[in-house]
Amino acid sequence: MTDYPVRIRPAIAAHPAYAQGKQAGADAFKLSSNENPFEPLPGVVAAMQAAAGFHRYPDSSSPRLRARLAARFGVADDAVHIGAGSVSILYQLAHATCGPGDELLFSWRSFEAYPGLAIAADARPITVANTPAGGHDLDAMADAVTDRTGMVIVCSPNNPTGPVVTQADFDAFLGRVPVDVLVVLDEAYAEFVTDPDAVDGARVIAAGHPNVVVLRTFSKAYGLAGLRIGYAVGDPRILSAAKTTSIPLSVTAGAEAAALASLDAEDDLLERVRLIAGRRDRLAARLREAGWDVPVAQGNFVWLPAGDRTLEVAAAFEAADVIVRPFADDGVRISIGEEESLDRVVEVATAVLQKDRAYPAR
Ligand SMILES: *Cc1c(COP(=O)(O)O)cnc(C)c1O
Repeated sequence: MTDYPVRIRPAIAAHPAYAQGKQAGADAFKLSSNENPFEPLPGVVAAMQAAAGFHRYPDSSSPRLRARLAARFGVADDAVHIGAGSVSILYQLAHATCGPGDELLFSWRSFEAYPGLAIAADARPITVANTPAGGHDLDAMADAVTDRTGMVIVCSPNNPTGPVVTQADFDAFLGRVPVDVLVVLDEAYAEFVTDPDAVDGARVIAAGHPNVVVLRTFSKAYGLAGLRIGYAVGDPRILSAAKTTSIPLSVTAGAEAAALASLDAEDDLLERVRLIAGRRDRLAARLREAGWDVPVAQGNFVWLPAGDRTLEVAAAFEAADVIVRPFADDGVRISIGEEESLDRVVEVATAVLQKDRAYPAR
């Protein structure tokens, strides 16, 4: 364990800091962080640059963006809360609902930031194993709710495995969770979903469940990962509690302007999303054909369940200048990137399954 120069809370000292996906060299495909391979639209860049006046603090509640999103979800402006990335809102909600000894419940394997939320709040991460198909076992999750549960996260599509939760299963789950327990529906990849049976946060909000907060982000489908902007939709009182725990003034004016411009340019952006979803479906099919048991993929990534060969498989990709995201002893997540990356991904994924293991290198 690290020898700290000052007293550090034991739970923090014991927990490694969040590790980002690997950066990639200029010639490599960076498929490690579920980013959008398309560069920002010119109009979005211009809008951000026009949001001048950086010597002033932003109006960090992002009123124009909240109004825009509120209209879209059919809610009041104060039922929308903007954060510097939806991860920051996850932290706010965790701090608002969980204290020492409380439980923060989620499926596992899921988003690698979730365990840290509980640790930061001095709460206990409680995990329920994914189904063998890589989805949430919502019945087991409902069973795992106790009177110490402060917050439950449902991630659909699930990062990093790919499957969605269905609307019917989510509704049944809500029927089993006490109404005073916060349920966060993390829909970071909502725009990539093509399954009509998938849960839809907009529908959940319209149905009026006061204990559900829906989280979405501009990082993935809208390609603004570097600007850090995401949002929550839910009961204004819950969002107000989240704001109490937030770092003041963390959403910048430039990010708000870029998000608004992205909504203006939504037709173009959603066309890109359709391209990425198409690539995803083709890649998943080719990987299955090659012999990989790829789960249903509804985000902008596919999952290779490589088990104890995970690090070796990731190294083979890296040797071929494809940077992927390994989760040791479990699997490899591959983001959907440039069209030209697909053949190389399939080539490596195929080679690692072959007995002689002669991986293609570049
Ligand atoms: C990427 C991601 C987020 C959002 O990230 P931000 O960039 O902070 O908005 C949230 N949840 C999941 C599951 C993600 O994969």
